[in-house]
Amino acid sequence: MSTAVTTPSADPGFVEDDLGAALLSAFEGSHHKRRAAGRAAFPSEGMLRDPALGLDDARAWTLERLHVLVEAGFGQAIVGVDRATTDSQIQSLIDFETISYGDLSVAIKSGVQHGLFGGAIAGLGTPEHHARFLSDALTLRALGCFAMTERGHGSDVASLETTISYDPQAGGFVVHSPHDSSAKTYIGNAAAHGHLAAVFGQLIVDGVARGVHCILVPLRDADGTVLPGVRIGDNGHKGGLLGVDNGTIAFDHVRVPRDMLLDRFGAVDAEGRYVSSIENPNRRFFTMLGALVRGRICIGGGAAIAARRALSIATRYAERRTQFRRPDSDAESPLLDYLSHQRKLLPAIARAYALGFAQNDLIDAYGTVSSDSRHDPRAQRALETQAAGLKVLNTDFANAAIQTCREACGGAGYMSENQLTQLRADTDVFATFEGDNTVLLQLVAKGVLTDYRDVWGGLGRLGLVQASARLVGSAVIERTGAGLLAERLSTTARRKGDAGALSDRGWHVWMFEERERHSVDSLARRMRAADSDSFDQVNAMQDHVLFVARAHMERVVLDSFIAAIEACPDGAARQTLEELCTLFVLTSLESDAGWFLAHNRMSDARAKALRPRINQLCADLRPRATALVDGFGVPAEWLGSAMLAG
Ligand SMILES: Cc1cc2nc3c(=O)[nH]c(=O)nc-3n(C[C@H](O)[C@H](O)[C@H](O)COP(=O)(O)OP(=O)(O)OC[C@H]3O[C@@H](n4cnc5c(N)ncnc54)[C@H](O)[C@@H]3O)c2cc1C
Repeated sequence: MSTAVTTPSADPGFVEDDLGAALLSAFEGSHHKRRAAGRAAFPSEGMLRDPALGLDDARAWTLERLHVLVEAGFGQAIVGVDRATTDSQIQSLIDFETISYGDLSVAIKSGVQHGLFGGAIAGLGTPEHHARFLSDALTLRALGCFAMTERGHGSDVASLETTISYDPQAGGFVVHSPHDSSAKTYIGNAAAHGHLAAVFGQLIVDGVARGVHCILVPLRDADGTVLPGVRIGDNGHKGGLLGVDNGTIAFDHVRVPRDMLLDRFGAVDAEGRYVSSIENPNRRFFTMLGALVRGRICIGGGAAIAARRALSIATRYAERRTQFRRPDSDAESPLLDYLSHQRKLLPAIARAYALGFAQNDLIDAYGTVSSDSRHDPRAQRALETQAAGLKVLNTDFANAAIQTCREACGGAGYMSENQLTQLRADTDVFATFEGDNTVLLQLVAKGVLTDYRDVWGGLGRLGLVQASARLVGSAVIERTGAGLLAERLSTTARRKGDAGALSDRGWHVWMFEERERHSVDSLARRMRAADSDSFDQVNAMQDHVLFVARAHMERVVLDSFIAAIEACPDGAARQTLEELCTLFVLTSLESDAGWFLAHNRMSDARAKALRPRINQLCADLRPRATALVDGFGVPAEWLGSAMLAG
């Protein structure tokens, strides 16, 4: 199939000026070299799909393109946990990011094949499984599915209905879908290409349910014929990601040998007994899910790249597109000279930088924690909380920013040849898969509250109030690494009192901390007072829970931004990052101004001053807009946007 839009290969010197180059180096941080190597290896010829392709052709093109990427070495960094190094773990994330510069169906197909199917084998299997299946999965000799979601249960994974029953007579398992609602659905690679599936279901041994486990089940033979007992359906046309063949899978008493269970955390031995090194079933369940955290980090990273692509397109267009003659001259104004246009794009660019720095820190944390089998369980919990939270922030941001960019390009933005509608359609569902964003925010809040309980757990209600007054801003917000500098800045600002200007970084951190600390404190109090078995009482706090999660994540992102500025050498790039950071902070404060006013954390005068200060920052940054998007590292030639040609 050769109907792809062709783009010339990347020019390594794609960044137009020194500021752009310095920003790119700072933005990519310790992963800059690895990312540059990824861009250099990325086969950019034919990287974008022709949006006019029909369903079958789009699927075939996507698979063909995935083969091209695998031949270029992408997706090969996934290894069994016993062989994982910091390097291999980080490389697997950067590979996905790099693939996301191109068509997102290909990125998601790689995500399914390498990250989810390969990742399940690597994370839930034993060295024998790795030796037997991993190489075929990574090189596409065995196309596979990650079959978790069912018609009846998506977010609530613990309630999956598929059964994986051990048959002691035959010495193997029987995989079965007992009801219509047990059928797997939306499963990538199921409708057309998958030969093998990592299937999640309830393990039953000797009549005892042992909770959710994962087993490899063959779906099709070498010719692609569906195997007996397996029923496959096609989810058909979707709102985006047309190149991914999502489908349904149901099992009718399918027999699978005992060694197909991915049994790193729970196994059935030769005598037919269930054995697990983790006794507590709840902990076992969350440990298994925790082993799959990479997928969530990838989706956040892919969404971030999509947002950067859209912002690069819209900003470059806004520099060249003119509308209306200026009253003071014969020339027409470029769109980017209009304040309202600056307000659309520049705060979004600032936020993209902020999220990028936080993603860098998350990638580092993943590399360290996931390659150390003896890691502290608290480090794993922190990693899972940040992965869930950043997945939400990145995907929500991508959806909002891409829509803004589409509108910022007027009618041209709506033409498929300019890529924005494709990006919008493809990233939409990033808010849903790899964990629905609302459900993930609840996970984030749970992580924050667990840390809170660890610190405050021993205190009675009076002690809590007293200690809270004494330790304002420190104990709730526990920091390591990237956050230490932010903590120092805020301590200094607190000492000075509320005298700082809107541009005072210490005051910024203080405000972000206050939003987090106060909302966590008050939520913890409400939770203590509530009956945890009462649905109504717990449900009544859901909006509060979501607020806590967002407040926590915004503060984490700011910590990363501040640490990244500190790591940037003095000069124009550092100065620009300072301004971007202030713009990120003030737009975040402006969107929650109601909260700050209602909780007496900000005076009326200061809240009013936010808007003109943001406007001024936008005007200051406007002349550097192209350098700012150059700093994202998306080569202009890869944008594939017809309106930018020539
Ligand atoms: C294109 C696509 C590809 C996919 N690929 C795969 C795949 O390869 N493998 C796989 O296993 N799965 C896959 N999925 C499934 C995906 O992971 C699920 O759709 C997702 O987990 C959400 O589950 P659900 O659709 O059942 O939504 P639900 O869980 O039914 O959620 C629906 C709505 O209810 C809300 N909600 C749910 N529970 C709560 C709660 N406790 N409190 C408040 N609100 C709540 C959610 O926020 C959401 O808005 C894919 C989905 C899509 C659309």
